[in-house]
Amino acid sequence: MSDNCLFCKIVEGQIPSKKVYEDDEFFAFQDINPAAPVHLLVVPKHHVTSLQEISEQDAAWLGRLMTLAPRLAQENGCTPGPEGGFRVVINTGAEGGQEVGHLHMHIIGGPRPWDKRAAPAA
Ligand code: AMP
Ligand code: ZN
Repeated sequence: MSDNCLFCKIVEGQIPSKKVYEDDEFFAFQDINPAAPVHLLVVPKHHVTSLQEISEQDAAWLGRLMTLAPRLAQENGCTPGPEGGFRVVINTGAEGGQEVGHLHMHIIGGPRPWDKRAAPAA
């Protein structure tokens, strides 16, 4: 737990969230300002500021974080298969557009059109 970290406080239940998943390592909840019909955030329970802090020792839990993406996407309304799918985004640092300093994976999906924030021109 890092002092004054919004997502640490959400993990601890000090700030309410719409939880969609929790296990020993991860906590997932709905984004408060969704950019698409499905917009989830998945965070590690331990505080990590961003992907810039990551090293080889983090490979295993980062891999497990990734494997949650297809599962949580489908459980929360993303369309399965090649016509469906979802987007995974990890904004990193100020220039990467990161606003909350606790590493988080966006899972964004559902029928289009989406908000332009989530759907830059391909
Ligand atoms: P990023 O720009 O990658 O740091 O994304 C931060 C995300 O956190 C944004 O999509 C916000 O809408 C979302 N967010 C901020 N505060 C909350 C909150 N209290 N509960 C859920 N999502 C939040
Ligand atoms: Zn934190």
